[in-house]
Amino acid sequence: MKDECGICGRVLSTRYMRRCQRCKRLFCRDCMVPDVATGDPTAMLCLHCAKRVVSPVSKSKYSGLTSYLRFRGSFTQLVKLSFARIDGLISSNLPMSAYRDEAWWSNSPNAHAKGWLDAGWEVQEVNLKEGVVTFKKVRDVPFKKSRHAKSEIKPFTPVRVRSSKPKMPSKTKVSKLYARIKNLERQRTASRGSIRGLKSRSRYEKRLFKPDERPQ
Ligand SMILES: [Zn+2]
Ligand SMILES: [Zn+2]
Repeated sequence: MKDECGICGRVLSTRYMRRCQRCKRLFCRDCMVPDVATGDPTAMLCLHCAKRVVSPVSKSKYSGLTSYLRFRGSFTQLVKLSFARIDGLISSNLPMSAYRDEAWWSNSPNAHAKGWLDAGWEVQEVNLKEGVVTFKKVRDVPFKKSRHAKSEIKPFTPVRVRSSKPKMPSKTKVSKLYARIKNLERQRTASRGSIRGLKSRSRYEKRLFKPDERPQ
């Protein structure tokens, strides 16, 4: 028995594959992580599901419709939309059941109905023959108040600014620096001036005896 991993695409023996706890599909073990929330080390999640668990996608398929209705809601109570228009708003296709089944347009809070319910709108009438749906605004939902937007508004935390007060260097550092300067000065005067307490030679003396021309 072999199967293809839905993430890396490798075809492997099912012995090397595990079923994802969330999407119930088979993946290779390399593309899975243990579902730490369960505490069961054999419970695995595929990387797709693990990502969704860690950072849930705030945008649903119908969020385009939600934001459109929210926007229309600020100046109108009734909106008639063709199915094709909705396809455009959600940048996707409505499922076939939306074309065939009137129940799909019911206002029960299921995943797709949230597309209009979350905006404060309800389906008033649907005409499957014409492919047109009429939404009616039932309550006010403040514009731009999605879960995503809410998470973005955080209490203002000012960036830490370094205090303008000049930082005083430590006394040890200062004394070390002074000691170094003094040493440097001493070295300079030593190389220039008398060595081992001797008076520096005159120009005449220097001409007489050059240290690198030692007598043999
Ligand atoms: Zn894989
Ligand atoms: Zn999965």
